[in-house]
Amino acid sequence: MGSVMRGLLRNTIIIGLFVLYFIMILMKSDLGGNLLSPVVTAIAAWYLYLGYVKKAAGRTMRAEGVFFFASVFTWVVCDTAWAVYSLLLGIDPEEMILTTYGYSLTNLFFLIWLIISGLQELKRWNMVQVLVDTVAISFSSMILIWLFFLNADRQNVILLQTDWVSAASIGIDFIIIIWTIIWFFSIRSGKIPRYMRYSPLGTILFALMDIVYYYQLFYTEYDPNSLLDGGYVFAFALMGISGYLKYVQKEQGAITLDNKGGNSKGLILLVAPVAIVLFKGFEVEYLLLLVVTILLHFMFSAFTQKNIFRDELLEKEKELNAKLERKVAERTSELNALLDKDVVTGLQSRRSFLRNLRETIGELDDQSNLILFYIDLNRYKMIKTMFGNYVGEQVLSEVGATLQTRFEKDGAMLASYGEDVFVLLLKGNFTYEKGEAIAAEITETCSRIYRVDGYDIRVTLNTGLAIYPTDSSTKAELIRHADIAMSEARKNGYNKVQSFDHELEAQVSRKNRIELLLKKVCFDEEFSLHYQPQVTIEKGEIYGMEALLRWKTPDGTMISPGEFIPIAEETGYIIPIGYWVMERALEQLAKWDELCDGDYKMAVNVSAKQLLERDFIQNLSEMLIRYQIDPARLEIEITESSQLEENREIKSKLIRIHEMGISIAMDDFGTGYSSLYYLKHLPIDRIKIAKPLIDKIETDVYDKTIVQTAITVAKTRNMKTIAEGVETREQWECLKAIHCDEVQGYYFARPMPAAEIFEKWLCK
Ligand code: C2E
Ligand code: CA
Repeated sequence: MGSVMRGLLRNTIIIGLFVLYFIMILMKSDLGGNLLSPVVTAIAAWYLYLGYVKKAAGRTMRAEGVFFFASVFTWVVCDTAWAVYSLLLGIDPEEMILTTYGYSLTNLFFLIWLIISGLQELKRWNMVQVLVDTVAISFSSMILIWLFFLNADRQNVILLQTDWVSAASIGIDFIIIIWTIIWFFSIRSGKIPRYMRYSPLGTILFALMDIVYYYQLFYTEYDPNSLLDGGYVFAFALMGISGYLKYVQKEQGAITLDNKGGNSKGLILLVAPVAIVLFKGFEVEYLLLLVVTILLHFMFSAFTQKNIFRDELLEKEKELNAKLERKVAERTSELNALLDKDVVTGLQSRRSFLRNLRETIGELDDQSNLILFYIDLNRYKMIKTMFGNYVGEQVLSEVGATLQTRFEKDGAMLASYGEDVFVLLLKGNFTYEKGEAIAAEITETCSRIYRVDGYDIRVTLNTGLAIYPTDSSTKAELIRHADIAMSEARKNGYNKVQSFDHELEAQVSRKNRIELLLKKVCFDEEFSLHYQPQVTIEKGEIYGMEALLRWKTPDGTMISPGEFIPIAEETGYIIPIGYWVMERALEQLAKWDELCDGDYKMAVNVSAKQLLERDFIQNLSEMLIRYQIDPARLEIEITESSQLEENREIKSKLIRIHEMGISIAMDDFGTGYSSLYYLKHLPIDRIKIAKPLIDKIETDVYDKTIVQTAITVAKTRNMKTIAEGVETREQWECLKAIHCDEVQGYYFARPMPAAEIFEKWLCK
């Protein structure tokens, strides 16, 4: 037999039993009533158990359900006892305690059930409203009971007092009715599930029947198995249906209770005075009591409603806050997504890269390593200045796209790390050789001409690389090492590649230490000047001298200017240092002039950075005036650099300096930036041929030819030439043969302190 058929049969039997019971009741059959009443009530109790206890959601709901079930089950027990007493034992059940008082337990359990269920669904102020309503309605009802039920007769009350169980049951019946009505009126929103319509109907019917029962018991005669009993059983059947529906339904319907609009509901209270006026006439005393009750109810309700309203506002505020917080959280995550992307290139940002790098390092196994390429675009700022921001950014994003297209398939992690820096991370098994080959490929693919907005822009780059964990043990170290390597590559020119090694790091850390020392250097205590004679090539007579800075740090170590001057230039400390040197050199010259006459020149090294300083010329002329030095006695040595070529300001400043009468020497001529350009465009009086060209001049024909050419060009432009770093007689003679004007070098004199040069060279 299929389950559908079985269900159908079961329902038919159950309904059949109920129908049979009601027929027997109508036929006033005691046997049928006594026998079937416990059976059908038991069926209702069973379904209540299934729906309200078994299927209860949560502990409170279950407790609630247990009392609901217990109330009907008590009835089943009492009814069975009744049947046993009357049918089997032949005892009058109305004489037995179990049957007379047992039924009252049903009322008690109903009450408990209602209290638990009502309390748990109501909030604080709503509960107060229920209380106010209950007190008012109960009081009105008590007056009605007194007038209608007890006929305003004290005697009847005494009767009730002797049977306090019955009295309590009647009281509970009224409370059940009142409470259920209030509860039903309090349902505010949500769909009332079907099962919830049958249970209040059942309970109200039960309570009504109970009141009728007690009325019969006191005033007329109770007739067992009459229609009244049928009413009871019908009430239980309604509850059973509720249990069944609750048991079979899929979702628990959601309802919320509140007691809003308590005042309008208070109108129910008018029922009592109207009933009195209609059926008992103008009972002034009672009417007055009821009016006071209505007024008090009105007052308390108004107060409670205000609080309910306030609570609701608070709740709304909470809801709004929660909504706001959700919105903020949404926006924050959107913002985070934005921050993870670079606006210009659309690649992942530095922030996102660092996060991903940490993860990648965390997941790295022993077999693999990571290689990081730190790719710096050369002259990006210049591109932006010359062609505008848009073009600059476009170039940048095209370089990014080129890198992405090339390395995407290798599972590379590419990011925009700084304004003009890309980082590329690869996972695998890398050596520096392999890495350098990849870096060369990066250079090859990216360094080309990009056409943007009608401009052809040449892009070059420098790449530094470092490997994790071979050389770098943390994320930060990996990036720093690749960056160090890139800086080293940049020193060697454009499109250069450099792998990290620890010597580089040592250099960097020494550089950092020097920078730190420079920052707190005490000029007059740690710095001093040495002077190296510059002599005429023919007679070896002093023509001038070069002031050279010496630095003795507080711990007594000497740091060579060849090491710290570039750092000072980079950091800008060269500006105050340069002024200090100039001032001391001029002061020294003035002192010597006081001691004995001389017309030799004082040559002071000046870096391009100093020339760019706004007040340089002003300060220089003030110093010359202060020490009363003829500008013709001063020579400044400028080292050739790309800046000299590119910067117009430097050029115009040099012209002004020259106009002041100060002579200008081009230092280190012949190294680095190729230099005939300067000879033509800058106001130069002397060129200083760099030491590397002098070193092998007597053996290397090529070097000799360059020097010779430089001397020839200089002569045609009326410039003097001086050879630097002359260390041997041979070099000197060779230079003499090709008509160099002056020489400077260890062969003649090393740089020496002021007192020594004064003694040996100036005042002989
Ligand atoms: P420089 O201007 O090319 O100075 C000449 C350097 O060659 C000096 O080194 C000098 O001591 C050295 N020298 C001279 N003759 C010989 C020689 O025969 N053999 C050898 N091996 N070396 C010789 P120093 O004093 O160490 O200075 C190094 C560099 O530091 C200078 O190169 C100059 O560029 C810079 N410098 C020194 N003092 C100053 C200064 O006051 N201001 C600026 N801006 N730079 C300075
Ligand atoms: Ca020099």
